[in-house]
Amino acid sequence: MLIKEGIFQFKIPMRFNPLGYTFCYYLSDSKTLIDTGINAKDAYDALEKQLTVLNAKIIDIENIIPTHFHGDHVGLIDLIRQKGNSKLYAHQSLIDKQNKEKAYWKDLSRLSIEEIKEMGGGDITPLFGRFENSIRPPPKPFNIDKIVEDNQILKLENTNLRIFWTPGHAREHICLYDANNRILFSGDHVLPKITSHVAMHTWGERDPLNDYLTSLKKINELSVKIVLPGHEYNFTNLSERVNQLHVHHKSRCNEIKDAITKGEKTIYQISSRVSWDSRPWPEMDFWTKRMAATETFAHLFYLKNKNEVIENKNDGILYYNLA
Ligand SMILES: [Zn+2]
Repeated sequence: MLIKEGIFQFKIPMRFNPLGYTFCYYLSDSKTLIDTGINAKDAYDALEKQLTVLNAKIIDIENIIPTHFHGDHVGLIDLIRQKGNSKLYAHQSLIDKQNKEKAYWKDLSRLSIEEIKEMGGGDITPLFGRFENSIRPPPKPFNIDKIVEDNQILKLENTNLRIFWTPGHAREHICLYDANNRILFSGDHVLPKITSHVAMHTWGERDPLNDYLTSLKKINELSVKIVLPGHEYNFTNLSERVNQLHVHHKSRCNEIKDAITKGEKTIYQISSRVSWDSRPWPEMDFWTKRMAATETFAHLFYLKNKNEVIENKNDGILYYNLA
């Protein structure tokens, strides 16, 4: 789909994922691809087909700028690079994240099981085998050609893109702003309807929710005519949407504080009292509960840093109380 002369939106299918597709963007003058879609045959075919309409080929792609390095945004990078000579861009934090991943991945199943216990999810030793099987081999680190920095202006053929480092949903997340056309490529930082997953692991980055809320403020002041997101649909009301997201996290923080008014609780107990967008807690499967718990943990950590809740550890389990 043509967004503006030289800027095209590609829809890359993502089967088996309720989101359905990833949006990628092709800047034809500079032969730049923002995000790639998942690593799957039909995704590759969809990319190729949509390039063909523009008389372009995969081999022509010169620059790949992922908004962040989750599978649905970077899955096709290896295949694209095997064809041609494209340069890959990323924020410095990706390099640090890849180094850390290398160090902890071998312990990931043990860490995950310990984490569930710490969060009050009970003893899942019987699930250990299934757990081990669910852990993929360590991701192959990407070789980055160009490191981009917050506020840097990337000068490409006929376009200047200002980089905004927007950690929260992913540590290395960036948004790209085309000031001339007042376009914001928002990746998964701001989506029109769903709220991005902001989660924290016991072994992971500290206070991602604070990062996320700070990152929202970073882009809120921009003069934007259209937001081009990674999923769902394009939208125009950026500051209204940013405001909704602040409200959403504030009300989730309130729900969490309400859950502990009558005494201390574990992360899983608190999670069971939060109203989730997907489905109610009792209907969630084990894996969705785990995602919900890591999101609750991100909020609790944020509240702890604001001195609104107190954390105690008893017999290896974390408990939270109002401050
Ligand atoms: Zn995504």
